[in-house]
Amino acid sequence: MLKRYMWWLHTRWPAGTVEKLPEVGTDGATAIPGIRVVGDLAGIPLLKFSADTGARAVQAILREPDFTPGGNTLDLAIIGAGVSGIAAALEAKKAGLRFQVFEAVQPFSTIVNFPKGKPIYTYPTDMTPAGQMRFRASVKEALLDELEAQRRAAGIEPVTLRIEKIERVGDVFQIAPNVRAKRVIVAIGRSGNYRKPNVPGEDLDKVYHRLYDPKEYAGRQCLV
Ligand SMILES: Cc1cc2nc3c(=O)[nH]c(=O)nc-3n(C[C@H](O)[C@H](O)[C@H](O)COP(=O)(O)OP(=O)(O)OC[C@H]3O[C@@H](n4cnc5c(N)ncnc54)[C@H](O)[C@@H]3O)c2cc1C
Repeated sequence: MLKRYMWWLHTRWPAGTVEKLPEVGTDGATAIPGIRVVGDLAGIPLLKFSADTGARAVQAILREPDFTPGGNTLDLAIIGAGVSGIAAALEAKKAGLRFQVFEAVQPFSTIVNFPKGKPIYTYPTDMTPAGQMRFRASVKEALLDELEAQRRAAGIEPVTLRIEKIERVGDVFQIAPNVRAKRVIVAIGRSGNYRKPNVPGEDLDKVYHRLYDPKEYAGRQCLV
């Protein structure tokens, strides 16, 4: 199934061109030691795989011989509070790491912008992702509720900040002024992020910050 999905995804999607993705090795490893890439950005845009890769990346960091938690510098910075970033955070919390999640918009922002009442498919059905994040819901709203409940129960509060660059400084990484971390997990997905217009009404149920499928609104009155 995965093979057919990847074939469709990379050759048959509407844009018609193959999207470039970062080269990612086992457990999200990249060409830069200390930086791992997880979730959709690692290649398979499905909820369960995103959670799985997030948790596995943290487990791999814990196994790195030269990783020494503790001290004033963050052990881990997680960029992006989507499914993969929060799955990584749950694992970091369990391991007692000193970590922070940085989110440009709001937690699970990609899912927040799924169309109202969207059915949720948790393929592969027989897969149990690594880590603690679990998916039981079958529609968007229930999915958001259960993910937010898991995040809150673990006391994970992302800092609202769009990270623009990661710079190596000695043996740590600078990701924002005054923010340094020994390890970085990039969990920014592939949906980009939107800027809200900051006007009254923007949080109404009928307002979306992204258009996924124009067909859903055919024949209806829309303001773009
Ligand atoms: C319309 C739609 C329907 C889908 N339906 C399903 C489904 O039914 N079943 C299924 O299994 N999968 C589905 N998916 C796929 C699923 O949503 C993704 O696999 C999952 O959300 C990926 O999680 P992620 O954490 O990698 O990325 P995302 O969920 O995209 O999260 C990335 C987060 O990073 C933040 N971010 C981005 N850039 C920065 C930055 N520079 N600094 C700080 N934060 C940043 C974003 O704001 C966002 O919150 C669907 C996807 C879409 C778009």
